[in-house]
Amino acid sequence: MPKMTPGYVRNAIRRSLSAIVDREPGKREVAKLWRHFASKCAYCGKALKPGPGANIDHLVPASKQGAHHISNRVLACATCDNRKGNRLWRAHLKTVAPNAMEANRRTAKIEKWAKLMAPSVAIADKKVVEREAERVLTTFNTAVEKLRRAVSPKRAADA
Ligand SMILES: [Zn+2]
Repeated sequence: MPKMTPGYVRNAIRRSLSAIVDREPGKREVAKLWRHFASKCAYCGKALKPGPGANIDHLVPASKQGAHHISNRVLACATCDNRKGNRLWRAHLKTVAPNAMEANRRTAKIEKWAKLMAPSVAIADKKVVEREAERVLTTFNTAVEKLRRAVSPKRAADA
């Protein structure tokens, strides 16, 4: 078990609250993903094996408020995952598909997946999660400060 530092707990609180509305895919969903994409990179078509080099990529990046939910994830090789970065997935796909027809076929396969796995309940706006996390963390931070002052009376008296 990792050391329960305030920083660790702050991250755990954020992840825990976020997971309520937008959880990471489970093993069965990931297995389904491998089958849907026939163990190939959804963008470039490279054959993949589970393990390093095979990523469960976000279609809309997490940095752009994309969900962790399985409907926003595809199988991707490490090269595509790196090269795609924060670009739109459709733009990336066009650069790695051998021709326009194949690009259209792969795009349709990804769209079908997103539709097939669409969540039955809406994924809450990340801003709502962030707001709730901030509320809890403000209280938590105050408690940390108070306790730190309580165990260092000398410093508090000096201040
Ligand atoms: Zn690829």
